[in-house]
Amino acid sequence: MKRITPIVTLAALLTVAGCTTEGGFDTNKAMAVGMGVAQAVTLNEESVKHTASLAAKEMDGKNQVAPASSAYAQRLAGITSGLQNYKGLKFDFKVYLAPEVNAFAMADGTVRVYSGLMDAMPDDQVLAVIGHEIGHVYHKHSYAQMQQKILTDSAMQAAVSVGGMVGELTQGQLGQLAYVAVNAQFSQQDELESDEFAVKMLHSLGKDPYAMKRAIATLQAKYGSDSSFLSSHPSNKERIQRIQKAIDRL
Ligand SMILES: [Zn+2]
Repeated sequence: MKRITPIVTLAALLTVAGCTTEGGFDTNKAMAVGMGVAQAVTLNEESVKHTASLAAKEMDGKNQVAPASSAYAQRLAGITSGLQNYKGLKFDFKVYLAPEVNAFAMADGTVRVYSGLMDAMPDDQVLAVIGHEIGHVYHKHSYAQMQQKILTDSAMQAAVSVGGMVGELTQGQLGQLAYVAVNAQFSQQDELESDEFAVKMLHSLGKDPYAMKRAIATLQAKYGSDSSFLSSHPSNKERIQRIQKAIDRL
């Protein structure tokens, strides 16, 4: 998200976990810019994941997390049943009680779904969106994004030590990292890859893979093409076509 206006905020919130695709990023370039080519480093993956969990904690503290007894939390628990451990990764699912039509994931497997998105879709489509988010984690898009942010922020760079370990960050810095995750800008390729992951996941769970198509159709029907989720690249049409191809390959 590049501008803070109510309209753009809505658009960003429709991105379903940062599915805006303008820009994207080049990790190598980012490291060269941030660290100087001679100093380009790769951060320790576990350290980045730990930092992500701290950022998620910071984010949880600023949002109204649905209590386990609430209808939203129970519905999400049902939708994500069996996904706490998936493909060798651990995931933690929670609902934020907020009207935004959004969801996001972080490198450590944190997945947060806004109640606004749950209100907008039936269970199978919510699961499709969650599959898309899990795809960003599985394919390390979320990890690469957080690494890039840390390596291009001079104050955060200072916290990186030998071995690519990320040292202690301030609450404000953790908040910034969470913000980047919520408003993630992934490349077209990353988005398509995550859509395909969701299709395969739905299929492997015995669910209808067409739910991924329907989730996009729901967003388009309810929010039109004004949202960056639907108007940015890849186009909605291309995205639907690619999802269909992925379904055909099942
Ligand atoms: Zn996405």
